[in-house]
Amino acid sequence: MARRRRGGGLDRLLLTLFLAAALLLAPAAAAEAEVEVELEVAVTAPAPAQDASEEAADAVAQQQEQHLLTSPLVIKLPSEASERGAGSDEWSYDELPPEVRCESWRLAAEANNLAPWGAVPAECAAHVRGYLTGAGYRSDLELVARESAAYARAAPLGGHGRDAWIFDVDETLLSNLPYYADHGYGLELFDHHEFDKWVEKGEAPAIPSSLKLYKEVRELGFKIFLLTGRTEGHQAVTVENLNKQGFHDWDKLILRAAADRKKTATTYKSEKRKEMETEGYRILGNSGDQWSDLLGSSMSARSFKLPNPMYYIP
Ligand SMILES: [Mg+2]
Repeated sequence: MARRRRGGGLDRLLLTLFLAAALLLAPAAAAEAEVEVELEVAVTAPAPAQDASEEAADAVAQQQEQHLLTSPLVIKLPSEASERGAGSDEWSYDELPPEVRCESWRLAAEANNLAPWGAVPAECAAHVRGYLTGAGYRSDLELVARESAAYARAAPLGGHGRDAWIFDVDETLLSNLPYYADHGYGLELFDHHEFDKWVEKGEAPAIPSSLKLYKEVRELGFKIFLLTGRTEGHQAVTVENLNKQGFHDWDKLILRAAADRKKTATTYKSEKRKEMETEGYRILGNSGDQWSDLLGSSMSARSFKLPNPMYYIP
């Protein structure tokens, strides 16, 4: 028993010491465990949810901003073929879409780079119609008139009453668009008989920008010559049509006589300009929708080509 009592005392003493040590060491171990947990959280946990959503929103906004900025700078051609043509060895004019080729055709026509042609290419019918009935044709006419007027105002008039300006009539002062609207805007071959019937109506409207230019040139003191490919048989109706549309007080209206009928327009008009020079006139300006109005001999000091993709007169 005594051994048991002594032994029991020793046991209690050892138990007491163990519990005391456990109590002393437990907080340190717990604190160490918390540090480990906190460190593990700091290393492996994702960024707070609010930061992640802000970053995602920034990324989307950046993408949208890039799209908005770059999109207008991209020139998109209408077909895959044209996209392939840009910077590629596979480039082919014939594979370009018709609207692109027709832009080139019209520019070449206006620049007098085409061989003599009889009608608008069939594939360009819609392009030419769209140009003539849209803002492009009016804008081009207006710009030519403005440049012509600026030149006329700056031209050094001699003060002798012999400075001249020549105007063609059809598609220069008067518009035949109502006629050509019924004939495919140049898609059909020119029909003299049908066109003469239209001319005899005397209903061709003025080209507004040309009427304004005409009046300004006249007021500046130029002599005005109207030089047209219309025949003398159309003189009366042409005068009537011009007057009705606001064109007045020209100095001379020159039409094709019977002797001029087989001449090209270039030859006929060159000869008439030569006559003007012989009479002592100095031709400072010339306005026409055909190169044959402007080129040849006795050319004007300055020529102004009005747009016309509907027909070609040599
Ligand atoms: Mg003309």
